[in-house]
Amino acid sequence: MPELPEVETYRRFLDDLVVGQRIVAVEVFDAHVLALKEDALRAALVGATVTATQRLGKNCFLELSGEQVLVLHFGMTGDVGAYRDDHDRPRFTRVALHLQDGLRVAFIDPRKFGRIRLAASVATYQHEKHLGPDALDLTVEKLAAALARKKTLIKPVLLDQRLTAGLGNWIVDEVLFQASIHPERVASSLTPDEVGRLHAAIQLVLRTAIEHEASYQRFPLSFIIHAREWDAYPTPNSDAYKYCPTDKTAIVKKYVGGRATYFCPICQKET
Ligand SMILES: [Zn+2]
Repeated sequence: MPELPEVETYRRFLDDLVVGQRIVAVEVFDAHVLALKEDALRAALVGATVTATQRLGKNCFLELSGEQVLVLHFGMTGDVGAYRDDHDRPRFTRVALHLQDGLRVAFIDPRKFGRIRLAASVATYQHEKHLGPDALDLTVEKLAAALARKKTLIKPVLLDQRLTAGLGNWIVDEVLFQASIHPERVASSLTPDEVGRLHAAIQLVLRTAIEHEASYQRFPLSFIIHAREWDAYPTPNSDAYKYCPTDKTAIVKKYVGGRATYFCPICQKET
């Protein structure tokens, strides 16, 4: 599922290709991914110039000269691509934007849970969707104030997009591991030192993931993401990924708030 690091990678790709370009045509191959009428999308896009890109959590925005923003949400399997000729069109392209220089930008989505919509502005969309600040913009003061009010478990609190936008399931596990905080601690019980570590870990995990363009198998071996049941491990022919990189204890899997959660019982003490 495209999380904040993937979406930031997509945003950078789009920023390089589309900013300053006029959209000359819109091709819709499958209207399932449109959250508005095809005619309304075309009316807003054709003739408009893309002036900037933005990202908030898992949402990517193309700002348009017509004072609107195109909102891209990638669902389970969304991606972006670019091509020039019909025969090079990526498989599962659902919508293509034709740019003035001949390039075409593809919204690709095999499972079609992604959505394309329009909003008046990023701020309007943020307000309508009740999204907090982007996780990379969250200050330690704001995090401390939010956690102090929460008598519930830290993991579901961090997953709540109203607190901060862009922390998904694996990201929260990695953040809590890097901060040495148990996922079932009561949020309001965290000390100022722990909140400081948590804030630093959010920055570390997201920046590391973006730097590696969200290719998990290339993440540092000091991350516990490798213990998740995924296809690609950084250490072929070894089961080292199942153990804590610090103390070699077996990583525990447990459901917290209904979500699969991985942690080290030694590094992340419950009390
Ligand atoms: Zn450990």
